Amino acid sequence: MFDADVAVVGLGAWGSCALWTLARRGVRAVGIERFTPGHSMGSSGGTSRMFRTACLEHPGLVPLARRSLELWHELQSSAGQPLIDSSGGLLIGPRDGHIIAGTLAASRVHDLPVQMWDSGDLRNRMPVHAGLPDHHIGVWEQGAGLIRPERAIAAAVRIAEAAGARVFTDTKVTGVELVTDGAVVSTPVRDLRVRQVVVTAGGWLGSLVDELPVETVRMPMTWFEPMADRERFVLDRLPVFMRQLDDGVCVWGHGILPWNNAHAGLVKLGLEDSDGRFPVIDPEAFDRSVSPEDWDLLVGRLRTAVPGVREVPARVSVCMYTRTPDNQFLLGRPRRDPRLVIAGGCNNHGFKHATGVGEAVADLVMGRPPSYDLAFCDPDRFG
Ligand SMILES: Cc1cc2nc3c(=O)[nH]c(=O)nc-3n(C[C@H](O)[C@H](O)[C@H](O)COP(=O)(O)OP(=O)(O)OC[C@H]3O[C@@H](n4cnc5c(N)ncnc54)[C@H](O)[C@@H]3O)c2cc1C
Repeated sequence: MFDADVAVVGLGAWGSCALWTLARRGVRAVGIERFTPGHSMGSSGGTSRMFRTACLEHPGLVPLARRSLELWHELQSSAGQPLIDSSGGLLIGPRDGHIIAGTLAASRVHDLPVQMWDSGDLRNRMPVHAGLPDHHIGVWEQGAGLIRPERAIAAAVRIAEAAGARVFTDTKVTGVELVTDGAVVSTPVRDLRVRQVVVTAGGWLGSLVDELPVETVRMPMTWFEPMADRERFVLDRLPVFMRQLDDGVCVWGHGILPWNNAHAGLVKLGLEDSDGRFPVIDPEAFDRSVSPEDWDLLVGRLRTAVPGVREVPARVSVCMYTRTPDNQFLLGRPRRDPRLVIAGGCNNHGFKHATGVGEAVADLVMGRPPSYDLAFCDPDRFG
């Protein structure tokens, strides 16, 4: 006797969307989350996440991003509240740097509707980038923008529950055991017997499934106050961007959000982990308190990247994410096991794809062929 056909362990970005899709397809599903959905203890806190279809990380992600965008709008419409905003997004850097080269490769393969701006154009259109050197260019995607992560996750779980999923929150899964005819998911309250288990535990993925090529990394997020001329830093004038500097360091961020949020009046900025600078941590036991080391490197680049904000952050918080050896996701059945699906290894660029990943997970669970080729995300690809 099974408690459900499938259990989804971890209702963060990817798990909440998997549960949403499974429930609306009528699958008997249960979702288990150790905190309250929309919390800030994992990879999905911090008020905003960039959405773009110009997937510089791998051209094969573009179809997933396109499908995700359709699904974000469906989720938004079911939720009856704004979840995604399309104020445009900008990728900036030297032409041969990884940001621009990756963006142009994805755009070429999929004929994306992006505009190329030379440094003069960019300085004229967005004076906040006035210090841009002549040899840098910008790629503008009008359909890019921001997703509200906490609200989106909470909405996906709520709608999944309304569609028939059972949800256990504030319940930690202590073990996942694969047995002859399915899986046993253990919690301190009870064990659940299911035909299949989906593990979407984000930074904790490696503690629930053995032998996965993932490590969990601690990553700070920082918010800065404009020194003067607040209007210069509003979202319309500083849309979400990623910018590679000449020393290779990549800064990302966006201007002041026009909606109520926990970081009102502040410009959000952070650094990409391009050279593995952020420390590998044990997700169960790491220091979430912040120190100047969390912002020193970024502050040293503010005058170049975003001049005009105070050089001491107004707010700092710590997030984590999972890193794989090739920076691509893990999505599929390890060792082709019919009882187990994993989705993780987000590598710091996974939120935008959550709805599409949720659908791909549901397809795997239901034995449907994938809608597009995600072989580069196969969890067994490292041998
Ligand atoms: C600072 C930062 C900035 C980022 N910016 C962007 C961006 O702009 N655009 C973008 O697309 N991506 C971005 N990302 C990446 C994106 O946020 C992640 O890819 C995404 O949040 C990962 O979602 P997830 O579901 O894998 O993890 P999470 O959302 O953390 O979900 C995992 C869930 O599993 C639960 N869980 C874990 N263990 C257990 C257990 N034992 N029992 C029950 N539940 C459990 C956790 O509580 C958590 O809710 C960023 C990441 C960081 C850290």
